[in-house]
Amino acid sequence: MSRFLHSKFNALDPYDTSEELESMNGSYIRLNTNESPFAPSLKVMERAKEAAGTLNFYPDPDCTRLREKLADLMSVKPSEIVVGNGSDEILNFIFTAFCERGATFPDITYSFYKILAKFHGVDFITMPLDEDFRVSPDDYKNLNGRTIFIANPNAPTGIFLKLDDVERVVAHNPDSLVVIDEAYVDFGGESAKSLLNTHKNLIVVRTFSKSRSMAGGRLGWCMTCEELARDIRDIKNTFTPYNINAMTQAAGLATLEDEATTQANIKLIQTVREDVKLRLREIGFEVLDSSTNFLFARHRSLGGEKIFEALKRRGIMVRHFSSPQKISDFNRITIGTAEQMQRFLNTIREAVSE
Ligand code: PMP
Repeated sequence: MSRFLHSKFNALDPYDTSEELESMNGSYIRLNTNESPFAPSLKVMERAKEAAGTLNFYPDPDCTRLREKLADLMSVKPSEIVVGNGSDEILNFIFTAFCERGATFPDITYSFYKILAKFHGVDFITMPLDEDFRVSPDDYKNLNGRTIFIANPNAPTGIFLKLDDVERVVAHNPDSLVVIDEAYVDFGGESAKSLLNTHKNLIVVRTFSKSRSMAGGRLGWCMTCEELARDIRDIKNTFTPYNINAMTQAAGLATLEDEATTQANIKLIQTVREDVKLRLREIGFEVLDSSTNFLFARHRSLGGEKIFEALKRRGIMVRHFSSPQKISDFNRITIGTAEQMQRFLNTIREAVSE
């Protein structure tokens, strides 16, 4: 840290990208970042290329056409949508705009909530998942206005919380904002979108990074009531009015115009996921039921790190979390193509019998 860094950043705890960078060197099958294994369609690539011809101009700061199309697809109004440079940016806007009275989220969930809370000096408390790694909705009560963040389905567990339970959390906390992060909802579970009409303390966050094959384009969005959307847009326009480049806006729009491809890709991932789950169980893994594009699994006798290292040595990168201890025997395995997963299964069979 340089002597010029503002002292408020002395305890900065940034996202560790080292393993991700290592996995990008071309020598691994990357099952560690929950990306889609499918490239964007040719139509999407063409539209991005066309938009490259307008790079001399600033992009539309309101992502007007994209928001209109999203609104149409989600049956909400364009004024109820804000678009971000990945859903991470939306989460950052939310931590910036709200959370004055603190935040709360499960102890095992998407790591960025804690990172952002620390960055923004937001006081946070975590709620333990139950022994089956499920969110306990009744824990989210009497929170004195803390903003509640729930990834649904949750990561890295892959487990979803029923819509009734989500509604209970939203309804029991009228003085708290409830943020439901639905990065993986296209692969399973139920969206909280249907609660937006009746609850004005709810923000639903989504991304193009998983089911829509656009992690590299950096595109996320949220849906909420107009008043909250206006607050988030004001924060956005204060930091980064042109947060979505023209190629990404065009690619995003083209992706939405080709829902058939997205839906077909989702089906493929779900089918492969269920097959890999059964195969892993056959060779001694406990695998949580997943509503996402990844599996969370531990072996009945071998440690999580050992499995992670054995796969890595053989050219397959999965995600291992050394803490908290309660999940250190697990690995998170992104579902790739059927071919990649066949290779993964052959490799893991070899690894557990070595
Ligand atoms: N939420 C969850 C639960 C995630 O797992 C991720 C991706 N790792 C994100 C949000 C952020 O995704 P992106 O910024 O690519 O939209």
